[in-house]
Amino acid sequence: MKFIETRGNDGQRPTSITFAQAILSPMSSFGGIYSPETLPTFDLDFMQSHIDSGYKKLAKDVLTAFEVDIEESVIDEALSLYDHFDDPQNPVPVVKVYDDLYVSELYHGPTRAFKDMALQPFGTVLSAVAEKRNEKYLILAATSGDTGPAALETFKNRNNVQVACLYPDGGTSDVQRLQMVTEDADNLKVIGIHGDFDDAQSALKTLLTSQAFEASLKEHDISLSAANSVNFGRIIFQTIYHIYSYLELVRQGAIKLGDEVYLNVPSGNFGNALGGYYAYKMGLPVKQIHIASNNNNVLTKFITTGEYDLREASVIATTSPAMDILKSSNIERILFDMFGAERTKELMLQLDSDKFYKITADELAQVKAIFAADFCTDKEGLEYIKQAFEVGYLMCPHTATCFKAYDTCREDKSIKTIAYSTAEWTKFSPVIAYALTGKKYEHDIDALKMIADKAKVDIPAQIAELFDKPIAQETVIDKADIEKGILEFLS
Ligand SMILES: *Cc1c(COP(=O)(O)O)cnc(C)c1O
Repeated sequence: MKFIETRGNDGQRPTSITFAQAILSPMSSFGGIYSPETLPTFDLDFMQSHIDSGYKKLAKDVLTAFEVDIEESVIDEALSLYDHFDDPQNPVPVVKVYDDLYVSELYHGPTRAFKDMALQPFGTVLSAVAEKRNEKYLILAATSGDTGPAALETFKNRNNVQVACLYPDGGTSDVQRLQMVTEDADNLKVIGIHGDFDDAQSALKTLLTSQAFEASLKEHDISLSAANSVNFGRIIFQTIYHIYSYLELVRQGAIKLGDEVYLNVPSGNFGNALGGYYAYKMGLPVKQIHIASNNNNVLTKFITTGEYDLREASVIATTSPAMDILKSSNIERILFDMFGAERTKELMLQLDSDKFYKITADELAQVKAIFAADFCTDKEGLEYIKQAFEVGYLMCPHTATCFKAYDTCREDKSIKTIAYSTAEWTKFSPVIAYALTGKKYEHDIDALKMIADKAKVDIPAQIAELFDKPIAQETVIDKADIEKGILEFLS
């Protein structure tokens, strides 16, 4: 399968490239990204034949249908990482919370957040492709807490890839910081910044566009790549669990094969939701995809009014920080899929220059045919966490936003909803403790113990052991020193 450019071709780059090329260099002409030229289709026979296959078998057959140019042995190795999830037979448990609401838990991997679903196999694939070409890559990441740990975990001790990860010192939870600063592999560098997440992110953007930095990397024979969800190497792995979760509902007797469902996705950069959209396009019986946001509600506004408006917007810090995003990168792939490259280029360049675009009424009708959206305030989120706990379900603040969309977006109440849970309670324990008791906990460890006790669950080993691990990454510096810090690490 070929990958083509969302904003058309500039006459300098190739007009289409392979999967391996698209994951090494994810940026395309005019600041665009790569999308598949066509999608494979899966009919009900395909679904029927996978009713009893495990996750890995389903994943392999989906990847094969995408005709990726990756050796089979590499794919097998990548998919074997799901064996390290809590239950290798069922890495994505789907849990019934209400009669018509099922939660698909995407957080049972090593860093306890949904980023592992794609980054675990992606790390193997990217490193293998780089090694085969005898090329070296640097992955730069700025994180508010989930992407960083998952990227470090997947690339640690891998060949031909180094990772430098910036985080705001004091701006993550204790658990998230410990997940990063206890990583001690030689190819990983974790750098705390005096400042907030925006400072880390803008420092990263400055580096990515600095010619001096690029020249210094060249001296070391290193190219830059990206591990965020503009990289299609992540999206491809995010189509699979939507199909798997649907089949799980069939297995549980909640639906019959062919019945339509709602997907309900807590969204930031829209990678997870895009995976659901592709699954729908490939044949999954989906009635509609509900996009849940927090107070950073640009997506709600876009999907309900057709206006993508950043003119007055600035990022609001919420209790669901992984969704504190205004420029949602993967909306571009939806525009491209629905309206083509020329229109996508026009809209995206307008967003760059005017911080605003508006699609036409016809275009909006097309968007609304498959998407609906709503946002959940922090206060509402606390209430949903408490309500769910009362029926025996413990969930994180990102997952809570889905419960609002579940309440407000469904038009046909006879249709079952699959909502996605993107982080384990352990990563956001102070917020959950506050929701359950009204008491503020300053340290994660105290909140973790209280919740574990109240809910009669264990703190998983991956989290509990963090508090005793030695700190391997001590660097905390000013923004001005980041470039120097990274270059020292590379040499
Ligand atoms: C990354 C993340 C999200 C948002 O996912 P997108 O694919 O960027 O929309 C939601 N919740 C958690 C916990 C995350 O880590």
